[in-house]
Amino acid sequence: MEPTDDAPRRPRPPDNHVHTHFSWDTPDSSTMLKACRRAVDLGLPAIAFTEHLDFTVWRDDDRATAEGLLDRHPAQQTPIDVEAYAAEIAEARERFPELRIWAGVEAGEPHLFGASVAEHLRRSPADRVLGSLHSLADGGRLVGVTRLLWHEPDATMRRYLAEVLDMLQSSDVFQVLAHCDFPRRYWPGGTHRYVEKDYEEEYRAVFRALAGSGRALEVNTSSPLASVDQVRWFREEGGDAVSFGSDAHQPQRVGDRFDLAVDVVEAAGFRPGRDRFDFWRR
Ligand SMILES: [Zn+2]
Ligand SMILES: [Zn+2]
Repeated sequence: MEPTDDAPRRPRPPDNHVHTHFSWDTPDSSTMLKACRRAVDLGLPAIAFTEHLDFTVWRDDDRATAEGLLDRHPAQQTPIDVEAYAAEIAEARERFPELRIWAGVEAGEPHLFGASVAEHLRRSPADRVLGSLHSLADGGRLVGVTRLLWHEPDATMRRYLAEVLDMLQSSDVFQVLAHCDFPRRYWPGGTHRYVEKDYEEEYRAVFRALAGSGRALEVNTSSPLASVDQVRWFREEGGDAVSFGSDAHQPQRVGDRFDLAVDVVEAAGFRPGRDRFDFWRR
């Protein structure tokens, strides 16, 4: 059979994880309008602007305070300008009516900053809230996990996955677990040396808790791509929803490697959901 030009285009998922200049680690040139243009060009149905919500100062009623955490290292994180953020979202929605545009945040260590996160969300309502773990407590401060990884990769990875489990069990503010194995991006000696299977038990405990609370697992395409095995472990533990996130910090990375990610997720037994805005479902 000859290929035809009008063959139906393969469905592409929403990009549920995109950063712009409102995130402290993202350049001024990364605007929502450029990201939306890229999403439309790729045929994505929707995009979520999930800016980093990381606290360097926090409230007395946050768990971080109760745990005696005093500061963060490094501490270059800055707050989101909520008024300017709302204005740019409104402009993007006006300029790109064909694209669904979600407001959001990527909440770092949300279980330690429950009161601070809630306060932010009252001022800046979000359609998408991602939960992320980037740091671990070390001697009274929160330390970027990459710094701990270099000394003790295996012990740090196990501690990391245990803390993700704690985060899932003690915070319900987020709908999607972002980059569940974030440290693998920075694995000493190269990402190819990371052996997923060594942590299968820990992954499964995380996925059981995630599935049990009805939340979505993110396949993050800035990280080394999740294996079919890993996504299947989630399915076997009862997982129902998979979210796709480029974690783009530059507009041209929006939707990056999504065709590959869709292949992995489908091979693990998930399909497009209720409509084109939904997560992929079992
Ligand atoms: Zn992140
Ligand atoms: Zn991110």
